[in-house]
Amino acid sequence: MTFDLTFDNRFTRDLPADPESRNFTRQVHQAGFSRVKPTPVSAPKWVAGSKEVAELIGLDSKWLGSAELTEVLAGNALADGMDPFAMCYGGHQFGNWAGQLGDGRAINLGEVVTADEKHWTLQLKGAGLTPYSRTADGLAVLRSSVREFLCSEAMHHLGVPTTRALSLVLTGEKVLRDMFYDGHPEHELGAVVCRVAPSFIRFGNFEIFASREDTETLQTLVEHTIRSEFPHLLSGAGPDAEVGPDVIAAMFEEVCRTTAEMVVHWMRVGFVHGVMNTDNMSILGLTIDYGPYGWLEDYDPDWTPNTTDAQGRRYRYAHQPQIAQWNLVALANALVPLVKEAEPLQRGIAVYVEEFQKSWHSMMAGKLGLSKYESETDDELVDSLLTLLQLAETDMTIFYRRLADIELGTQEQPVALELAAVLNHLSEAHYVADEVTEEYQQALMDWMRSYQSRVLADDGFPANDSQRRQRMNAVNPKYVLRNYLAQLAIDACDKGDDSMVSELLDVLRRPYEDQPGKERFAEKRPEWARHRPGCSMLSCSS
Ligand code: AMP
Ligand code: MG
Ligand code: MG
Repeated sequence: MTFDLTFDNRFTRDLPADPESRNFTRQVHQAGFSRVKPTPVSAPKWVAGSKEVAELIGLDSKWLGSAELTEVLAGNALADGMDPFAMCYGGHQFGNWAGQLGDGRAINLGEVVTADEKHWTLQLKGAGLTPYSRTADGLAVLRSSVREFLCSEAMHHLGVPTTRALSLVLTGEKVLRDMFYDGHPEHELGAVVCRVAPSFIRFGNFEIFASREDTETLQTLVEHTIRSEFPHLLSGAGPDAEVGPDVIAAMFEEVCRTTAEMVVHWMRVGFVHGVMNTDNMSILGLTIDYGPYGWLEDYDPDWTPNTTDAQGRRYRYAHQPQIAQWNLVALANALVPLVKEAEPLQRGIAVYVEEFQKSWHSMMAGKLGLSKYESETDDELVDSLLTLLQLAETDMTIFYRRLADIELGTQEQPVALELAAVLNHLSEAHYVADEVTEEYQQALMDWMRSYQSRVLADDGFPANDSQRRQRMNAVNPKYVLRNYLAQLAIDACDKGDDSMVSELLDVLRRPYEDQPGKERFAEKRPEWARHRPGCSMLSCSS
């Protein structure tokens, strides 16, 4: 079976392999990976696929849903050219060094090379035990797989850098999890997602060798990473050029930039990753590992979706920029043995801070429909808005779409008339749950006045409501994967009805467009979902 895909497996070619091929849990030394085979399953069943990802990797979409491809993507068969392996990596979890982690339930099938010479690694998540499974089972349940599948694709269509998802299949196996519904262990349906990315190398892949003082393997991994993923850093120097400290520092600086970009996108769309451990940070600045993530609904900067994080709130929404920086410092520490000096790496961290600030400003200007961010006026405008949003339970996603709809008129014709309409909008039951207090009304009124003046004085952009709306609606999504929507799709899927997964996937393909007939997917979280497990907070158990 080939599916007309060509494999060019650079990772397994470049990195030293674990000599032990038997599958038992162990510490793997001086090796980038272990060769493993997915565990066969009893009754693979196709649930959903992404035609965009198929196209990306040059897979004819006629194969999506076919018995042949289902077998491969459930782990029952290999296509010609695949060389399946699990990676060795470590990581800092919740701020502490956790030692060797590795692909405990992810199996990379191989790297597809497309006609335009792009490489795409296909990775099954939940395809059985590997040497890195530690005490767990190597499996994934339908619940977490639906969430990973839908969110990967939703994020991509929102314009957020992310790993992708080609497919979601049921395995026919039952998987035991301590479900949080009633606190008792429960059997759930097993599933496998096929993730796709140019590379799944994480910060933790570098950290593991640094922690073991295995500078040789570390250097080999860095060389592989630069040749495969950052070849432009060697341009002019030829493929055999030496990968010295300068090039490594340049790679680090690029990771700082792409990570800053990624986090700014998260802040823009209201995404909270929930487990920003260094083993969940991609060297390519892609959002990776969709576990107990969540979407801000009411604007609460301290919200974390992860029940394990509820105490320290290390991974809360507003803390993500700082945590990304903390993680970059951990990566820098791992690279010190190769770069030799700290200074070039510190420069990378400074670039992160600058880049984040700059992108955050232009992102906020975009959300407000301003031509550019002017610190003197806009620091105050943005700060007061973010305070305002917390005075009443304001749905962040809906707020920005409504703000775009408001007609600001002209300076002579104050916005007061319009304000009545805004307040009406705001008091609609599905918009704010709390009563709209006088304090809130006053603050909103004041803010709207400054906003109006600011927009009308914006000479970089014509004061035209319809153009402003267009501009804002291109960066403020109407449709995001609200936590309760994912849960409704899961509930249906659990009962054998996968139509909502497909319907959601379809709506989330065009998150910035008004989609008549799909308005219900853009509504504020209903009251029943406020405290229901799966609809607000989640555990790591998946
Ligand atoms: P995560 O919190 O999902 O990033 O996982 C942390 C580590 O635990 C990674 O090394 C995972 O591969 C591993 N892991 C998570 N769930 C399982 C599982 N069900 N079986 C084996 N390993 C797992
Ligand atoms: Mg992980
Ligand atoms: Mg995970």
